[in-house]
Amino acid sequence: MQALAPIRLWRQWRRRRILDHCLIDAEIWWPVVESSPAASHLTDSDRWHLRDLASLFLHEKSIEPAGGLELADPMRSRIACEACIPILNLGLELYRNWYSVIVYPGEFIARHRYVDEAGVEHDEREARLGEAWEHGPVVISWEDVAAGEPGFNVIIHEMAHKLDLLDGATNGRPPLHADMEARVWTDALGSAYAEHERQVEAGLDTAIDPYAAEDPGEFFAVASEVFFESPELLRDVWPQVYAQLALYYRQNPAGAGP
Ligand SMILES: [Zn+2]
Repeated sequence: MQALAPIRLWRQWRRRRILDHCLIDAEIWWPVVESSPAASHLTDSDRWHLRDLASLFLHEKSIEPAGGLELADPMRSRIACEACIPILNLGLELYRNWYSVIVYPGEFIARHRYVDEAGVEHDEREARLGEAWEHGPVVISWEDVAAGEPGFNVIIHEMAHKLDLLDGATNGRPPLHADMEARVWTDALGSAYAEHERQVEAGLDTAIDPYAAEDPGEFFAVASEVFFESPELLRDVWPQVYAQLALYYRQNPAGAGP
């Protein structure tokens, strides 16, 4: 284990050197972080740490405009800020196996070609607000980032898919920490998902976006949006889901209250 120490020190030194040159300017950063509902629960020291992470994110990833969008620096910083909120206490390494964020002005058409089990070729086109593929880019609609609709966050949604994909499957369960139990996670999220699915099928009002009933992967991504954007709501409706997400993200955005 001792051999790791120099590597860790070297990484820290390298990050500091990058930050010396690439730290997001204060006049851009502070308005961005203060206007993000997903950052509202963060302490001052969290926001300073988030600034470092977001700066490194911008250094390591390529944020590419598409569809004629003009991407100004505050927009890039907003994307980096919200992308780094989920990994604030986990580290940027969890985003290691992908490189770019493609940003469309609004809803975009995703084209997926595949061959099914019967050997039939499909070519599907579907309007999307965001998508994330294993090892591939994250694609988002700027209109939905800028709308900042309370309880919704397309960036956090797609980042949750990226974390889920770390074990190769979007099954709603990212690789868990050593102090977590897969059975407890599956019980908590599985029973909430089943309840949500029943409500959607019955046409009832739901506490979170009905889209979460699509599959367990979407349930985890939508629950992650709510966890950061409206944490009290998630804690009140599904306290066990909240507790598991708090353990996973190593954050407690609803605070210590009831
Ligand atoms: Zn999704």
